[in-house]
Amino acid sequence: MTTTVIGYPRIGAKRELKFATQKYFKNRISEDELQAKAAQLRSTHWNTLKNAGIDQIPSNDFSFFDNTLDAAFLLNIVPERYAALHLPALAEYFALARGYQGEDGDVKALPMKKWFNTNYHYIVPEFSPKTKIQLHGSKIFEEFQEAKDQGIITRPVIVGPYTLLRLGRFVDGAKPADFIADLAAAYKEIIEKLSAEGAEWFQIDEPALVYDQTEADLETFRALYDQILPAKGSLKILLQTYFGDLRDSLAVVDKFDFDGIGLDFVEGRENLEVLNKVKFPKDKTLFAGVINGKNIWKAHYAKVLSTIQAIQSNTDAPIVISTSCSLLHVPYTLDNEPKLPADEKQYLAFANEKLGELHDIDHILTAGLDDPAYQANIALFSKPRYEENKALNAKIAALTPADYTRKPARKERLAIQKKEFNLPILPTTTIGSFPQSPAVRKNRYQLRHGEITKAQYDKFNEEETKRWIKFQEDIGIDVLVHGEFERNDMVEYFGEHLNGYRFTENGWVQSYGTRAVKPPIIWGDVSRREPITVDASVYAQSQTKKIMKGMLTGPVTMLNWSFPREDVSRELSTQQLALALQEEVLDLEAHGIKIIQIDEAALREKLPLRKSDWFTKYLDWAVPAFRLVGAKVKPTTQIHTHMCYSEFGDIIPAIDDLDADVISFEASRADLTLLDALQKNHFETEVGPGVYDIHSPRVPSEQEIINVIHKILAKVPADNVWINPDCGLKTREEPEAKASLINLVAATKAVRAEL
Ligand code: GLN
Ligand code: ZN
Repeated sequence: MTTTVIGYPRIGAKRELKFATQKYFKNRISEDELQAKAAQLRSTHWNTLKNAGIDQIPSNDFSFFDNTLDAAFLLNIVPERYAALHLPALAEYFALARGYQGEDGDVKALPMKKWFNTNYHYIVPEFSPKTKIQLHGSKIFEEFQEAKDQGIITRPVIVGPYTLLRLGRFVDGAKPADFIADLAAAYKEIIEKLSAEGAEWFQIDEPALVYDQTEADLETFRALYDQILPAKGSLKILLQTYFGDLRDSLAVVDKFDFDGIGLDFVEGRENLEVLNKVKFPKDKTLFAGVINGKNIWKAHYAKVLSTIQAIQSNTDAPIVISTSCSLLHVPYTLDNEPKLPADEKQYLAFANEKLGELHDIDHILTAGLDDPAYQANIALFSKPRYEENKALNAKIAALTPADYTRKPARKERLAIQKKEFNLPILPTTTIGSFPQSPAVRKNRYQLRHGEITKAQYDKFNEEETKRWIKFQEDIGIDVLVHGEFERNDMVEYFGEHLNGYRFTENGWVQSYGTRAVKPPIIWGDVSRREPITVDASVYAQSQTKKIMKGMLTGPVTMLNWSFPREDVSRELSTQQLALALQEEVLDLEAHGIKIIQIDEAALREKLPLRKSDWFTKYLDWAVPAFRLVGAKVKPTTQIHTHMCYSEFGDIIPAIDDLDADVISFEASRADLTLLDALQKNHFETEVGPGVYDIHSPRVPSEQEIINVIHKILAKVPADNVWINPDCGLKTREEPEAKASLINLVAATKAVRAEL
């Protein structure tokens, strides 16, 4: 059989692209130097795939920031305010991604959202009546040529027009239908050019097909591809989907003249049933995503083979074995993990090891089950990987509804807390982290490498906390934070104090642009081994008379930003995490911490892609898990939570149901559409919809923030409103963080004076 992958990571096994790009942003290297680094990485990646024996190798899966942005940029979906800057191409591209503040103007970045149910973020394309779709760049063609020059005929990849329309944001009265003809024409032109350059296959990613499809949606799909496909000539077109199944669209898309259709059989398990109902045409190639592109566990070969068998029993079409999604979502290689013990490593597979799995599966399919690779895999999965915590699991089995219910009811609690804290109207706070400056990171680095003692390390963090407490007091923030200087990352740091976690040294996964995260691995049953944040919070509280907010990562986010187990349910892992965090919350309370924020940055992102699955497959256990963490605190202890990104509109009632006292949202990038939803649902939780975007270095002016506060007050009663940035400030530089917060407090004071 033929083997392939949907895409491969691009940041570099040692995050080379991140570092080069950041240097370019700081004018420390030229564009040429950045381009050279990028070309070197692409070459390494193509050759890695080639040497692993992968038959079809993708190109244009590389990106300087984001593939959706790449597609928008190629198609000239560039709002006027960016074009008006008249920047060179790459600078214009980065202006869309990060905003621009300089000699040529001042524009915010385009909004960024979670890519489907992953922790990767894409830049939201903006369509307006002025958008003129036409080919505007050449990256996809150049990268194909570049690989060809190295003797590799790649399969160029692009985000498809249907997905662009579903993910795009439409402003000033524009609507998706206005762009169908121009989009189709542009994709036709891409096809013609690739064909002329000598491409054999072209992969068009249409993951939006795994969402719920209405008849109108499918009509859009038809209209696009009716026009595009006649241009294909001898170029073979692969329609690639991932992150779910095509239960309501396979019967439509298989009527089109695609040469291949890519289906996900891991997250899109239902695709097997779909295949049972819709006979997959035998004149098309089925690209079968059977190796999990999102998780890091070694594939269970017997299960993979039985999936392939089930596919084959439903179709006579030729099959290409592939990954379930791009390998962008897993780290590069276990080779860079010398500290993981070999007996544990054997259960894991990162991107490169997954290439080996594709190769193994292909080999076993011809050589049969005597193949040593198969026998070794069977032997591995026949023994237990860890020792179960039976007492913990018995405790979880015995939980009752009372364990999930905080008393008294929120309204009553909030009244008690208002008296207790006596905060001004529109209280100001921040989301938790302050800049992770080079000095902060160096301190952690030195501890890790034994260059300083734990006492020296703590001393540095305490000084940093003290310095930032002074700043917060000086400018007049109401509820303070300690700054999170001890944290490498909001999940890994907690995992390090829990039983049942494993960590990597270089297991980086791109989160957005130059940002990467290193998700820990939930290896076994999770419990609290020792206090996590108590020392830092107690120290910080001792340095101020104002209220110091404790700061935890919530159970759902812990799960969602870790690589989850595949041998137990996500529900059980989350309950284990919730009980561990409940111990921490009670410990903080016992040590005098009065406000505790339980971050659920990632609660929204793993919402099933289909609405019909939202509650049954997720919220029905995710919401109770959050409630479990705070259920036992005193009425005077205020529980905050924080959520990042994306649309909350539809799940506002579920968010109220978390029963937190206060929530802060990332909303500024979504232009505060959230506010309408809060109003409509009579949202009860006190709320701080972020008043400025922290994902960009630009400093919001006082007036800008005043305007945002006015917008908020038009929709939410002032008594319920908190004023805060839209997320933590760890990625910002100190001067811009400070300047923004000064403006935030000044703006709040100005608005308070009007009330
Ligand atoms: N408390 C965290 C911080 O400020 C929250 C981060 C997040 O929501 N991603 O960094
Ligand atoms: Zn956030």
